[in-house]
Amino acid sequence: AATATPAVPATRTTDDRRVPAVLGADLEVPVKGGRLVRYANLDYAASAPCLEPVSAAVTAALPAYSSVHRGAGYASQLTTARYEQARHTVRAFVGARPCDSVIFTRNTTDATNLLARSLPEGTTAVVFDTEHHASLLPWADTVRLAPPAFPGEAVRAADEALGGIDGPKLLVVTAASNVTGELWPIAALAHIAHRHGARILVDAAQLVPHRRLNLTALDLDYVVFSGHKLYAPFGVGALIGRADWLSEAEPYLRGGGAVKAVDDDATEWHTDPEARHEAGTPNVLGAIALAAACDALTATGWNALLREEERLIGRLRAGLGAVEGVHELALWGPDHPRVGIVSFVVDGFTAREVAEVLSGTYGIGVRDGKFCAHPFVRHLLGAKDGGCDDVTASAVRASIGIGTTTEHVDRLVAALRELVSRG
Ligand code: PLP
Repeated sequence: AATATPAVPATRTTDDRRVPAVLGADLEVPVKGGRLVRYANLDYAASAPCLEPVSAAVTAALPAYSSVHRGAGYASQLTTARYEQARHTVRAFVGARPCDSVIFTRNTTDATNLLARSLPEGTTAVVFDTEHHASLLPWADTVRLAPPAFPGEAVRAADEALGGIDGPKLLVVTAASNVTGELWPIAALAHIAHRHGARILVDAAQLVPHRRLNLTALDLDYVVFSGHKLYAPFGVGALIGRADWLSEAEPYLRGGGAVKAVDDDATEWHTDPEARHEAGTPNVLGAIALAAACDALTATGWNALLREEERLIGRLRAGLGAVEGVHELALWGPDHPRVGIVSFVVDGFTAREVAEVLSGTYGIGVRDGKFCAHPFVRHLLGAKDGGCDDVTASAVRASIGIGTTTEHVDRLVAALRELVSRG
């Protein structure tokens, strides 16, 4: 079997920093005609591949692990130390305040649901229709805001909505859209939320793989994200933020670890949110993996990562723009800053057809669908077509990160050009 594309070097050098390699960079996949081609993974926004230092950290932890917080044995002590070190690393990674809680969850969805269950009675959540379902749906009482026409309009709409609500309120906003990659004005939204006595939750699932986040500097109350989008394997995420609501809320899970004392007719729960909401044996290896990913990104340096990402996403968008019949989706226009995500539609083809051809003929992995953001994708497609009533309408999404090469980007653009020209 022939390999259609050149080998990808295990590591690249950007300035004097080493960019860690991702696992699976030399994966070959079968395409039409029985050939094998090197896989072009352009689906990082769904799940990013595992970094080598992450894999190494998990491998190093495997020979001696035992349950945390429970045993005097060496393995238990060591595992507890590694787990709490991971918490410390994640705290530093997002620039949390010393008093903030860092609760390990299964993923972002688990984290938003944990917060939703911890809100004081009567809290109203204000959410934009642009949110991923993980941030759109968990709230009991919601005020939904239409997709804003420009960033200042988001701040104005939040201002107006929060001003009209009595009682506790929470503004929920995604820092970087999983559909368009566009960056939201989270500092201005935090400011507005606090002016109205509200709190703000930032869904950073698509931001933290691409940009440094500093919860303290931005004055955010809560941040959530997932390990599997941050170059760690599945099954771990985090909710980071103010402890007070969390220490008073019902424990998320009832069971060992969350409880201080149990006798025949009384149960005393921990008030420390990290113990209270992490009942049962936690995903220690997941936490170690997540922390190793945080360390690897920090060690590589954000400027180096950003420069390479901007080069690649710029090349991709320019390439897509030059293919007739390919239309990029954007809420705030082509010049608004974004992370390495671009969604598009192709005239004359369904999103599924495009994704299948890209995979089956060219060995390129993209996502097609509505990206768990149905109202937003409907809005974007409607804006393009002057009203979208087709509930099945979807888009194609290409997303990049560490391990993406110029060849991957060029292959996608060339494939689309061929697809369109064949008609
Ligand atoms: N929020 C955003 C912006 C996302 O992109 C995603 C996943 O696509 C989620 C939340 C949900 O993440 P998870 O499936 O890891 O819970």
